[in-house]
Amino acid sequence: MITVGLSGGIGSGKTLIAHIFATLGISVFYADEAVKALYDADTGLRHTLIDLLGGDIYKDGHLQRKRMASLIFANDTLMQKVNALTHPKVMLQFEQWAQQQPSPYVVLEAAILFESGSDKKMDYTIAVTAPEPLRITRAMQRDNATEQEVKNRMKQQWNDEQRNGKANFIIMNDNEQAVLPQVITVHQHILKTL
Ligand code: ATP
Repeated sequence: MITVGLSGGIGSGKTLIAHIFATLGISVFYADEAVKALYDADTGLRHTLIDLLGGDIYKDGHLQRKRMASLIFANDTLMQKVNALTHPKVMLQFEQWAQQQPSPYVVLEAAILFESGSDKKMDYTIAVTAPEPLRITRAMQRDNATEQEVKNRMKQQWNDEQRNGKANFIIMNDNEQAVLPQVITVHQHILKTL
């Protein structure tokens, strides 16, 4: 199965772009959703997270995501530890899922695709990019967050330049260039290589 990794910084619009691939009939695996499901479903992971972040990180069996965010977004080492715990599990799920998909190729949407090195496992990679002020505004509106909160999260991620330097394709989602034709161009390019 041909695999295509799709990533982008906070507020770049990678989920929106992933949805466009889905409307073209391409199966999309949403890694960040899969991680959220794992937090509550994987008992081993729960115990490790409690050891790492404290007992109050779970309440009634559910991860307290705001609490975790406030701890790990302020601490690079903790963030890396949590990613190192969850990312391999999610990649395994993705690989098993990919084998069962009927579409000509599959898309993996993941916030830390490049940071984690998982881009190297993909046949193609796409970076979704947008000017930083626009990304900040989008994320503030969507999450009802402050500018500082969004900037703190951005600091933990690679910047657009780093991602764009590694990606096979770049999709510009700046509210000026239409994204649909860009997605269709990438889609057709990949289909031609099959
Ligand atoms: P995160 O990593 O923070 O989850 P993301 O890259 O997945 O972000 P989206 O959730 O797709 O980004 O987009 C962020 C917000 O901006 C959403 O509310 C989305 O609807 C909006 N948005 C994204 N692209 C556009 C666009 N081209 N036009 C209008 N709104 C957009």
